[in-house]
Amino acid sequence: MKLKEVTEGKVRIFVPDPKEYMIEGKFDPSWAPVFYNPKMTFNRDLSVIVVSLLKPKIILDALSATGIRGIRYYVESWKSEQLILNDKNSTAASLIQINVKNNGIENAKIYNKDANALLYEIKSEYIDIDPFGSPVPFILSSINATIRNGIVAFTATDLSPLEGSSRTSCRRKYDAINYKLSSSKELGLRILIGKIIREAATLEKTVHPLFSFYADYYYRLFVIVESGARKADENINKNLKYFGECPRCGFQTFVDENCKTKCPICGENFIIIGPLYIGPLHNMEFLKRMIDTYSDFNYLSSFNRIQKLLNVIEKEAKYKSVFYNISKLASKLKVSAIPPIDSILECLGDASKTHFAPTGIRTDKGYEEIIRCVKSL
Ligand code: SAM
Repeated sequence: MKLKEVTEGKVRIFVPDPKEYMIEGKFDPSWAPVFYNPKMTFNRDLSVIVVSLLKPKIILDALSATGIRGIRYYVESWKSEQLILNDKNSTAASLIQINVKNNGIENAKIYNKDANALLYEIKSEYIDIDPFGSPVPFILSSINATIRNGIVAFTATDLSPLEGSSRTSCRRKYDAINYKLSSSKELGLRILIGKIIREAATLEKTVHPLFSFYADYYYRLFVIVESGARKADENINKNLKYFGECPRCGFQTFVDENCKTKCPICGENFIIIGPLYIGPLHNMEFLKRMIDTYSDFNYLSSFNRIQKLLNVIEKEAKYKSVFYNISKLASKLKVSAIPPIDSILECLGDASKTHFAPTGIRTDKGYEEIIRCVKSL
């Protein structure tokens, strides 16, 4: 395998030379013998900040590929007592050896195993699950492998089922009924969290989001794992529900059951999806620490983007409701000119933008207030 050295963050990593794996002048990272995707740098950059705050004794990067993620945690975030890197692809495991050495890391343990097998052998305080597509095959094993209120970080790139475009796939993988709705960008993340809560409950554990976001073509979610059947039951009872959107007037609400419920505004049957998680998408204290800390990472290539994302998330995190997609709402209401988002925010007074969609607004003011603003502008 011909290698090329690249710099990301503060590390230098050998990756398969993209020139060797071009097909008709194009390169897709999944065609190379070991996976390295520069488009995921933003995901890794933010994860570096998260890990720098968590300072776990043990870090397990269960699906490492080149090893870049775990190596960056060790070099840029925090020198954990144990760094464990694993990939079932033997070429990847050999490349991880090279990259670990190249970055002067002496004490890393490198495995060439199926991640699920490894996760039933060893325990860790921080586990990273960054798979191709869905993280579902690794939910149970990773939750099971956490110790001391550990953290699991999940990446999900299978947005098609999560956002309701592939409904049967969502039913199969996430055991949830789904449709493409106006705010599916956020609802997809909530379906993923709902699935993790239900899987964790089978182990008499539960999870709460620490920090989460949507970017490009994926969700990234950090959850804290807690033990106890009672806590698992409480979380299910309080935070797992269904979501309804009225196809006629666009009214949205959480509902208790997946049954035919009528919209209280216009009487149309709701489109119901779920089960999904209805609680906060971040731990507010942790979010504040992220905001206080990220400027220490101004060397990151995505620093400006991180700043923008955290600024929006800081504002939107205080609202409990799912965002309203103003362009979709305006089209349902047959309002021809979509009002500028800033004007809607001004009209509502207590509202924010959302990072999930450029035409979204988040507010806990009611549907009627939003409609009044959309129609009056
Ligand atoms: N975390 C890496 C990064 O940030 O660059 C990318 C990981 S890549 C998306 C997924 C990796 O998981 C691939 O290298 C693949 O070989 C590995 N993989 C897939 N299924 C696995 C399994 N069951 N056990 C261990 N590794 C697996």
